[in-house]
Amino acid sequence: MVETTVKTLNSLVNGTSLPGEAGTVRGVDPARNAETGPEFTLLAESQVEEATRAAAEAFESYRRTDPETRSAFLRTAADRLEESGEAIVESVQIETGLPEGRARGELARTVGQLRLFARVAEAGDYLGVRIEPALPERTPLPRPDLRQRKLPLGPVAVFGASNFPLAFSVGGGDTASALAAGCPVVFKAHNAHPGTAQLVGRAITQAVEENGLHPGTFSLLYGRGSAVGQALVRDPRIKAVGFTGSRSGGTSLMETAAAREVPIPVYAEMSSINPIFLLPSAVRGDRKKLAADFVASLNGSAGQLCTAPGLLLVPSGEDGDDFVRQVVEELTSTSGLTMLTSGICNARVEGEERLRGVSGVEAAAQGQAGSTENAPAPAVYSTDVETFLSTPELSDEIFGAVCLIIRYDSDERLLDFVDGLEGQLTATLHLDAEDGDDAAAAGRLLERLELTVGRILFNGWPTGVDVGDAIVHGGPYPATSDGRSTSVGTLAIERFLRPVAYQNVPEGLRPTELRDENPWDLVRRVDGEYQLPES
Ligand code: NAP
Repeated sequence: MVETTVKTLNSLVNGTSLPGEAGTVRGVDPARNAETGPEFTLLAESQVEEATRAAAEAFESYRRTDPETRSAFLRTAADRLEESGEAIVESVQIETGLPEGRARGELARTVGQLRLFARVAEAGDYLGVRIEPALPERTPLPRPDLRQRKLPLGPVAVFGASNFPLAFSVGGGDTASALAAGCPVVFKAHNAHPGTAQLVGRAITQAVEENGLHPGTFSLLYGRGSAVGQALVRDPRIKAVGFTGSRSGGTSLMETAAAREVPIPVYAEMSSINPIFLLPSAVRGDRKKLAADFVASLNGSAGQLCTAPGLLLVPSGEDGDDFVRQVVEELTSTSGLTMLTSGICNARVEGEERLRGVSGVEAAAQGQAGSTENAPAPAVYSTDVETFLSTPELSDEIFGAVCLIIRYDSDERLLDFVDGLEGQLTATLHLDAEDGDDAAAAGRLLERLELTVGRILFNGWPTGVDVGDAIVHGGPYPATSDGRSTSVGTLAIERFLRPVAYQNVPEGLRPTELRDENPWDLVRRVDGEYQLPES
């Protein structure tokens, strides 16, 4: 079924609407497999430089904005997003099949992220100011006056994911952190939620205008990844890339960025299977509740979360057997939810078929298919550590509500398992910390896991990421392209900055943040000691 459309909408480039020359796309309601909303024109590769030229021009003034101006801009963007909240929530539900509660929660998180980065811009500690005043009398050599601050890299290309149409999309964490750092953003809209992208893009464009910033500070491009996305990353004016999505997409952009005459960093968050370790004391406790909580984490958002539990390690023995029976019971009465697109649903179904075909893997439990299109039944399979370690494809992410239970018979096997694990966003341990044996085993696991994982949790579930100062949403490859950073939380700003040292620069010529009188009231490290602002 195809609904009639009322109008055609375009990319938002340099403050204006730019019609694309490479066809059109419409949103699709995945619950009905039906096109919905207006048409969006797609840009041709050759049109990308209208946005990158404008972004490069904008960089000249935007990078010099003071903390107040930058934070006011981010707060205005948050306000405008909130004002369009009802339309955004409706659009998210139609284009992604995600329920209203999830859409509202994600909107609140996105608005909160923009305000958080407004505070980061205002505080200015990300500038990392370090001052070592001259020591002319030092022997054997005098010390020069050395001052360091961090500068924004330049225009950043951002690619959003299908599974977070707000928090990892147009106004999401990559955009907020790049803008807070002083980098203009050119955003490649995800074609699975074009209407939502337009609403958020307009809110940010309006904030740019209201705050008197150069219109090239933010642009939103509709186009095919293979054409517009690749052209964007090849463009010499783009200085860094933020990406969330598939491993194939992320690695392709890494290759494109590395092949440029001047290579640039790509911060891609890609694939993770998030192992959960149930230690023996955990399955001696309330197994029914543990099983219910696991199934809720597995099936939430149809399993389309980068932190969804893909591996569950369960001890062999009667308690473990009974826990698996509780999972079977819980899952049997659980229905599948609408997935984001028919393509993602098909990939999930094919992934499950491949899993079923692996020797040593058995079906353990299956839920019910949902009542809409694209809502396959959640499923759990079972194997042992030996099979997992000898079958590389079992490490591949299946994006959706499919989990592999791995039975283990000793702590040593768990350590072997961790040694064979690829980089992960999360790992979770369940145990009774009063149990001495399990506490000791958990200590050994922790020491190994911290080398492979971005976030380690105890007695909880990895789905649900708290956005703040201490969070890490990252991890070694293939969880991300660069395990030294995070794509969620305030530390994300570091990805878009570069330190520069200024030696013996006269006070009158020093950048504002490095002047003796500290006009921006910054936290600074002076002669090895942190100094807090006086106000
Ligand atoms: P995706 O297919 O990687 O797409 C993300 C964005 O990148 C889209 O705008 C896409 O544009 C663009 N893109 C993808 N490949 C590209 C390439 N080679 N060159 C240039 N641009 C490219 O991710 P998705 O649509 O969000 O989800 C698809 C699959 O990714 C899922 O089935 C799942 O396996 C995985 N996934 C993983 C996570 C995670 O966090 N671990 C999150 C989301 C998705 P076009 O669509 O126009 O190509």
